[in-house]
Amino acid sequence: MPDQNKNSAPPGIPTGLALLQDPALNKGTAFTEKERNALGLRGLLPPHVHSQDEQVTRVLTNLRQLADPLEKFVALNALHDRNEALFFRVLCDNIDEMQPLVYTPTVGQACQKFGLVFQRPRGMFIGANDRGRIAQVLRNWPYQAGIIVVTDGERILGLGDLGANGMGIPVGKLSLYTACAGVHPRLCLPVTIDVGTNNESLLKDPYYVGLRQRRVTGAAYDELIEEFITAAHAVFPAVVIQFEDFANHNAFRMLDKYRGRICTFNDDIQGTASVVLAGLFSALRVTGGKLSDQKILFLGAGEAATGIADLVASAMVAQGLTESAAHQRCWLVDSKGLVIKSRTDLAAHKIPYAQEHAPIGDFLSAIKALKPTAIIGVSAVGGAFTMDVLEEMARINERPIVFALSNPTSQAECNAEQAYQWTSGRGLFACGSPFDRVKFNGKTFVPRQGNNSYIFPGVGLGAIASRARRITDDMFMAAAHTLAHLVTESDLEQGSLYPALPRIREVSAHIATAVADNAYHKGLAGKPKPQDVMADVQSQMYDPHYKSYI
Ligand code: NAD
Repeated sequence: MPDQNKNSAPPGIPTGLALLQDPALNKGTAFTEKERNALGLRGLLPPHVHSQDEQVTRVLTNLRQLADPLEKFVALNALHDRNEALFFRVLCDNIDEMQPLVYTPTVGQACQKFGLVFQRPRGMFIGANDRGRIAQVLRNWPYQAGIIVVTDGERILGLGDLGANGMGIPVGKLSLYTACAGVHPRLCLPVTIDVGTNNESLLKDPYYVGLRQRRVTGAAYDELIEEFITAAHAVFPAVVIQFEDFANHNAFRMLDKYRGRICTFNDDIQGTASVVLAGLFSALRVTGGKLSDQKILFLGAGEAATGIADLVASAMVAQGLTESAAHQRCWLVDSKGLVIKSRTDLAAHKIPYAQEHAPIGDFLSAIKALKPTAIIGVSAVGGAFTMDVLEEMARINERPIVFALSNPTSQAECNAEQAYQWTSGRGLFACGSPFDRVKFNGKTFVPRQGNNSYIFPGVGLGAIASRARRITDDMFMAAAHTLAHLVTESDLEQGSLYPALPRIREVSAHIATAVADNAYHKGLAGKPKPQDVMADVQSQMYDPHYKSYI
């Protein structure tokens, strides 16, 4: 019988219960006989040693027996709190199945019931009442953060103001940074800035986790955000800050204010733009056309639409158009009709796309008048791409480009079946919600989601790996080109404009390399360029397979 020798634990590795209760180090029943002896675990675990693969199978078996996605979300969260490596193995190996559970759509439900399903805190809550001491609060975080995802909970997905309950979003998003790009979990810090909520039912909800007050606005809001940004840089120099699910009126302002000052981006605006630009590049591989020759009509004129239009316009400029010529190739339709110069009700972010044109009230008439080569739905108006709309697109284009990106599925402008049927199988389609493959005219089409998770994890990893001082449009363009190049001929053959999601870590490594390369090339990196940028990026990727502790 081997002797138990607690003293053979390597430095920094606790022993006994402390080890089993540390989610960053725990391996549960997978601790080997040798580890059990050396680390004081004998008797604290059931005798049989399982492999990590067996543990993954057990987790999946349990999860698949739960009918309700929210129960699966809670079970996965509990696993995250218990055994981080196993949680990320389950995510990495089953990303197609797990992404909708840890992020949209399930995370939306989880945020709505955040107070009720709350078990353990994760990340940091910074309240309006922390004004003047935010740096001190951030110092309570025990690790050196490399990336912060921050929300103020005002526009959580399509669900509106969920106040501090919005914390599910930064937590879920950072899980995807680790699962999809291998950003180390210790570098990830989810933050909710609790400025209050104007959601009356939350203010009355006894389980609500946030401050019982209406939202702080105006100068007081701006000062709080400014203090947070300054404090975050003081406590975590070189941290990347990703803004997430801020309402339109703050999202664009914050991005404009901080993008030239710190290493930051807004995924709703810029990540979306990059993944959609990649989809357009893939579609153009099929049509053989040039981006700068396209005319793109958006349904919707919010964060997603104008973010996409801005990046598409930059990419057109890179292909030789002037900025104003590029803007004239992007047209928006919002709830009041075509965005045109004579309108007096336009928010600032729409103005670059206000065109000289007679008023048009509806989308079909806009298609007939403008003859776009591509339509992009980001309006959250379910069914807005009607049969008439898609037939008209197919009449004026040999291969019409049709992106119906609104979430959740009920808000999608059209579904995959409609996109192929109503364009006689000629549509080049991407979606924002998952759709099954479609059989039409003897051919099987495999629609793929233009999911932001193709882009933001790689961009974050590239910025961290190169210690980038800024995240620029150039980097998002490089990310889009890289993603489109990773789409194979057989993907295109079956109508897929994005690579298969299980390739996500490979995709993210390539995108991170492109972003880091750009940072080195443009003098925005915080370290000298390594000889092999890809190898340097890959060496920083977290691997959730267990390692031996002795
Ligand atoms: P938003 O609230 O900022 O914008 C919505 C826009 O739609 C507004 O400009 C509004 O005026 C317009 N709109 C509303 N009703 C309309 C109507 N009847 N006709 C025309 N326009 C109308 O929201 P957002 O962040 O831009 O997101 C919009 C949608 O895109 C959401 O469903 C979101 O889930 C989806 N989205 C998808 C992806 C993706 O697939 N990768 C990424 C981001 C957003």
